[in-house]
Amino acid sequence: MFRINDHYLKLKAGYLFPEISRRVKQFAEANPDASLIRLGIGDVTEPLTPSVIKAMHDAVDGMATHDGFHGYGPEQGYSWLREVVARHDYQERGCQIDAEEIFISDGSKCDTGNILDILGAGNRIAVQDPVYPVYIDTNVMAGNTGKADDSGEYQGLIYLRADETNQFQPALPDEPVDVIYLCYPNNPTGTAADRTVLERWVQYARDNKALILFDAAYEAFITDPKLPRSIYEIPGARDVAIEFRSFSKTAGFTGTRCALTIVPRDLVGRDSGGDPVQVHKLWNRRQSTKFNGVSYITQRGAAATYTEQGRKEVRQRIGFYMENAAIIRKALGSMGWKVFGGIHAPYVWVRVPGGMDSWGFFDKLLNEAHVVGTPGSGFGRSGEGYFRLSAFNSRAKVEQAMERIAKKLG
Ligand SMILES: *Cc1c(COP(=O)(O)O)cnc(C)c1O
Repeated sequence: MFRINDHYLKLKAGYLFPEISRRVKQFAEANPDASLIRLGIGDVTEPLTPSVIKAMHDAVDGMATHDGFHGYGPEQGYSWLREVVARHDYQERGCQIDAEEIFISDGSKCDTGNILDILGAGNRIAVQDPVYPVYIDTNVMAGNTGKADDSGEYQGLIYLRADETNQFQPALPDEPVDVIYLCYPNNPTGTAADRTVLERWVQYARDNKALILFDAAYEAFITDPKLPRSIYEIPGARDVAIEFRSFSKTAGFTGTRCALTIVPRDLVGRDSGGDPVQVHKLWNRRQSTKFNGVSYITQRGAAATYTEQGRKEVRQRIGFYMENAAIIRKALGSMGWKVFGGIHAPYVWVRVPGGMDSWGFFDKLLNEAHVVGTPGSGFGRSGEGYFRLSAFNSRAKVEQAMERIAKKLG
């Protein structure tokens, strides 16, 4: 008889998005003529840009020829992609990251989970609360937590609370931790981190020999050039941080799949005997064994986002979403609601008006304005009383949603 991984049984049955779907379905069945506007999902809505499409078409045509055919590529990604990433995303911003430290992958959701393969048991893990749920669930699956309590929080995880009282920047942990997940600009709160915030974390990690797992999936949405886009803009971060980036939100690759993970050669962990081990070697071994690379066609598409024209197109797409975010901020703010985020991230984090809870507000917005958002409590305890609206939609839908909210809830 075979056994399953018992840790999976500790997972709370993927509560948030299935529950949203259930409520939306129920509403739609009862109100077949209502036209719903979805500002809930963290998926892009604009198509791939012309440069990306052209590069991918050319790659497909190449694949039809003996000369241009590509079979298995390097597990770490093609060097022509790793090199443009190193130059444009890192070296041009003063970060000492070279191509060999960049691993191209099929997603940063996957990599933030997979990274646990190379970490040992017994690490004390800290997550921001509210949080991108993947960090928590992958730790549950890996056996790094105990059971969930009645509030849905797992024993053994350290939750770093983020709310209005600390401007959504959690304090340093007051107990020792070994691994810290940071997401900036943040999903779900839409908050960015300035240099001071990141310097404090890097210093903490150095002092405590901790590892920072830095999710920069939304770095391209940062509008203030003074804000750091990478953890490696902070001196000393090469010794303590792994960074995850993705073409998903940046260039509309959510369905195409391409991302990257940076593992600096200076990052050294300890084995159970206390001896130093280069983390880069372990990740390289892990990827070479369990991953066979991103398709050639996809990597050609990703590389096209770094040409002059490609960069212009990507900036235009991001600018479009950020105008949506500004429209949402302005509309809700002018109703006297408290809004956060939406300046350096495609998410607006709204303080639920009138002291309602997050799910109560979800139902009200759905039933009265026919707008779907995401209840903040679904991202963790500190998200209770907040609501996330996403800027990923057409201009017409965003404007219509704001008009409806003003009319029905204003
Ligand atoms: C969307 C998102 C990602 C990107 O995941 P991919 O697997 O690369 O599509 C990563 N982290 C966060 C916080 C996200 O919201």
